[in-house]
Amino acid sequence: MSKQIHVTDTILRDAHQSLLATRMRTEDMLPICDKLDKVGYWSLECWGGATFDACVRFLKEDPWERLRQLRAALPNTRLQMLLRGQNLLGYRHYSDDVVKAFVAKAAVNGIDVFRIFDAMNDVRNLRVAIEAVKAAGKHAQGTIAYTTSPVHTIDAFVAQAKQMEAMGCDSVAIKDMAGLLTPYATGELVKALKAEQSLPVFIHSHDTAGLAAMCQMKAIENGADHIDTAISSFAWGTSHPGTESMVAALKGSEFDTGLNLELLQEIGLYFYAVRKKYHQFESEFTAVDTRVQVNQVPGGMISNLANQLKEQGALNRMSEVLAEIPRVREDLGFPPLVTPTSQIVGTQAFFNVLAGERYKTITNEVKLYLQGGYGKAPGTVNEQLRRQAIGSEEVIDVRPADLLKPEMAKLRADIGALAKSEEDVLTFAMFPDIGRKFLEERAAGTLTPEVLLPIPEAGKVASAGGEGVPTEFVIDVHGETYRVDITGVGVKAEGKRHFYLSIDGMPEEVVFEPLNEFVGGGSSKRKQASAPGHVSTTMPGNIVDVLVKEGDTVKAGQAVLITEAMKMETEVQAAIAGKVTAIHVAKGDRVNPGEILIEIEG
Ligand code: MN
Repeated sequence: MSKQIHVTDTILRDAHQSLLATRMRTEDMLPICDKLDKVGYWSLECWGGATFDACVRFLKEDPWERLRQLRAALPNTRLQMLLRGQNLLGYRHYSDDVVKAFVAKAAVNGIDVFRIFDAMNDVRNLRVAIEAVKAAGKHAQGTIAYTTSPVHTIDAFVAQAKQMEAMGCDSVAIKDMAGLLTPYATGELVKALKAEQSLPVFIHSHDTAGLAAMCQMKAIENGADHIDTAISSFAWGTSHPGTESMVAALKGSEFDTGLNLELLQEIGLYFYAVRKKYHQFESEFTAVDTRVQVNQVPGGMISNLANQLKEQGALNRMSEVLAEIPRVREDLGFPPLVTPTSQIVGTQAFFNVLAGERYKTITNEVKLYLQGGYGKAPGTVNEQLRRQAIGSEEVIDVRPADLLKPEMAKLRADIGALAKSEEDVLTFAMFPDIGRKFLEERAAGTLTPEVLLPIPEAGKVASAGGEGVPTEFVIDVHGETYRVDITGVGVKAEGKRHFYLSIDGMPEEVVFEPLNEFVGGGSSKRKQASAPGHVSTTMPGNIVDVLVKEGDTVKAGQAVLITEAMKMETEVQAAIAGKVTAIHVAKGDRVNPGEILIEIEG
């Protein structure tokens, strides 16, 4: 008896999310769609929270337009998306009317299969999304966010799958976002799922620990129906098993995928060239790293965390953060680490390491989590930490969205004429700040994608820079291309250094200011904090809100600013009581550690 194993390729979503910080552009997807459409995949995963976010934030592409273009270019293949249950593509719970509107529009614009998960595995947070997908006539896939902990047993996962089956799901996915599955554990879990419920079982397993292909084989031998892969040039490590490898492994067996291996290899070569274009986003944490079996950090998060730490000059703290993450996770009752809990736990761990004292700063998201604002924790939370974080405030035990009023009308009113469609309103709903900025820039005609550095030519770079430093760049600014050559570097004098450049052949001289008196460089001219009344931050970030004004009297410990770093908000408190004498920041400003943001005189 033979059974065809179905394949979902993640190349258009998870593969580049896990390897290239989600930066692949639509222009690099469309030319290969004709071939992708002929392979015979069961589905192509192409949309999700991070792809949507990266489109709006960095690539300045309309994610809905990407979806429509992919739909048109892939007429014969199911398009699949990853949906964060009641969080949709964002980081908070949305009201039910937003969930319904979003799912309906995603379906209309081209999504066939919705893989729906909740970071807590709290199925109450999946219900409305599942119902909306079924109402749209599409495939609802219920998801087990796989993790290991004393409370995550096979029985618990099977019970969850049965609940999702009863809720109307068409299939069930084991989503091993971190690469925690081991081959025999996978076999046991799949065997139990196949025995006790009737939905087809999908395996989504990251190869972070180098085990994913073995896990898929054991899953298949125990009855799994579908596997997620990535075309080989975007496979392995923190991504997925290579499509061609798995197709070859099963070829001629009772589990033959039936996919065209020669065509797959052409596609693999195409993406080999594409990957090079994005070399600046390659993180050093995308290879096999068995530490994941301890720290449980998902590939997409490692890649993004590394990029964020690098931007903040703190990449050397990565190991400490990775060690702190499981401790924070235990304090929070062992949530699986997947968006948004991965960010919540990861950022809190980062704060704990950076501050040199655990929970000296507690993010607003950790407070909300401890109040039940994301749903029920899988295990028991640290009560002492809960008291410290929320004091006497109430803990909720209902589905968080039950407390939310309908929001669509308000969202439409808030974004007003900037929204040209219901899709635009939903973009704004998912990402209020960057979504609004995107719509404003689109209206003004000033959308500018981030610059892609030219692909280094090995020999040329080495000889020109002497130390592996490129001295020639082609840059794109507002659609115009410039060639920049660094022609010389002056001697450092009086703390200043002169650089001699030519831009399109015109010589230029640039003088860099010393960075010791003023931190941050660029447009920031704030001085370094030196007195207890100088309010500053410990992490680079953006100002979300300024809670005081000049002349206000503040108490010691009073929150005076809200900052955002690594997608998490934190309150910054006054260290001393006194009067606010100066404010050097406004909402939206970028700030660096140690800068004086507010001055308080005691
Ligand atoms: Mn994944």
